[in-house]
Amino acid sequence: MSPTKKVLLVFLPSESGVDGARSLYSDKGSSALSRWFNQSLRTIIKQSQFAIPPLSLMILSSLDVPGVEQSICDMRFEEFPFHEKWDLVGISVQTGMAKKAFALADQLRCAGTQVALGGAHVTLFPDSCRPHADVLVPGEADDLWKQVLTDLAAGPLKPLYSSDSFPDLEHSRPVSKTALIKKRYFTTNLIQTGRGCQYNCDFCNVHLLNGHVLRRRAVADIVNEVTRFQQEDSRIFFFVDDSINADPAYALELFRQLIPLNIRWFGQATTTLGLQHELLETFANSGCQALLVGIESIETKSRTAHKKNQNRTEELVRAITAIRKAEISLYGSFIYGLDGDTLNTPAAILDFINETQLDVPGINILRPTPGTQVFERLREEGRLLFDPLDITAYRYSFGQEMLYKPKNIPLDAFIESYSTLTRQVFSIKNAVKRGMSAPRAKSAVLLFNLFYAHLYGLSRHDLQHQREKSHQEKTILPYAE
Ligand code: SF4
Repeated sequence: MSPTKKVLLVFLPSESGVDGARSLYSDKGSSALSRWFNQSLRTIIKQSQFAIPPLSLMILSSLDVPGVEQSICDMRFEEFPFHEKWDLVGISVQTGMAKKAFALADQLRCAGTQVALGGAHVTLFPDSCRPHADVLVPGEADDLWKQVLTDLAAGPLKPLYSSDSFPDLEHSRPVSKTALIKKRYFTTNLIQTGRGCQYNCDFCNVHLLNGHVLRRRAVADIVNEVTRFQQEDSRIFFFVDDSINADPAYALELFRQLIPLNIRWFGQATTTLGLQHELLETFANSGCQALLVGIESIETKSRTAHKKNQNRTEELVRAITAIRKAEISLYGSFIYGLDGDTLNTPAAILDFINETQLDVPGINILRPTPGTQVFERLREEGRLLFDPLDITAYRYSFGQEMLYKPKNIPLDAFIESYSTLTRQVFSIKNAVKRGMSAPRAKSAVLLFNLFYAHLYGLSRHDLQHQREKSHQEKTILPYAE
């Protein structure tokens, strides 16, 4: 009998964000006290376990194939185990992290280890990944990975595992947490009820990666999973779907069945929930503590320009008020810098936050992700600030970097107005106030607001640095086609 094949699934850390926020530039120039403070805060952020496990790797590591043993290496917490021998290393590649992923893949392949690459970047840009991999797995890998493991156990692997269709999620695939070190994470109770989005927002890649048709798992399957997970980890549940109320009848049925299990949960929804009274009541009764809602823009012109047509300004305030009245705390996410935005937009966002009493506001700068419609449009319009072919440029950061030129606002004025807005919204005083007045999850609301006071401070520091650098170099645009 041939020996068991060892497979390692790798998740790479991002440059910044809740996994350990840091300036995109070195701490050089800041005082020793400030460096000590920033380092301590980074450690606290990391150790407060806002990190959640990589769900896609959890799903793949749950596949049980005779003759194959799978582990997960989460490089947010550990170094790559080069001292061990692996028959196959699978790396999840996100566009902002592609350079790091390719460097690791090249190093492993030089040492004779086979490497499989999958994830969003491989799905959208397979050609750029091919030179760094023995095996490419573009698309949703639930069924393809099983085929990879089966082939690995039997002999040689193929260079490409792909499918023309999305996996049927009604087919039961039990998710296991055995490959996770549970204490590292805020919670390991991650549940995905479905994939796909019927909307077409031009800055988003969900509909490109998972399709426009909502695919749902069977309700009974999810109830079983919640019951099983609850026995292994008593912490809060996180329903990771982009919009947990996208199919109201399905959500009503699911969360009604979850009421007797007495869980507490977070999720992501559209503000329409505030107008779906029966569903809202069921969410509250099933233990919903807080929801993230994508407000994106309160400017009608901006929503139209970016195809985010499902929100209506006049309904937003009413819906948000209703959700908070049902005792569910709200994280409301905005994007400033959309094509209908002007220098009057920050004041409107501030008024909106004050009127609705959002518990955790998040104010992002538009981030053109390669592969999205907005990225292509900005490229055609000559508004990207970095080389569109440079995979290192379009990295994830926490509002710390301008990647494009806003349509109606000069770059300097934009940075100034964004910095003023985040200074007004994210103060220690506001964090305490929001924590105390949140309908539920008060301590989480307080912590998030405190961390944001720090993170948006980093954002102001880095944007100022970028601005000074471009002035010194006497060019507004670091990149020009
Ligand atoms: S932003 Fe939300 S609603 Fe819009 S396409 Fe993406 S997932 Fe769908």
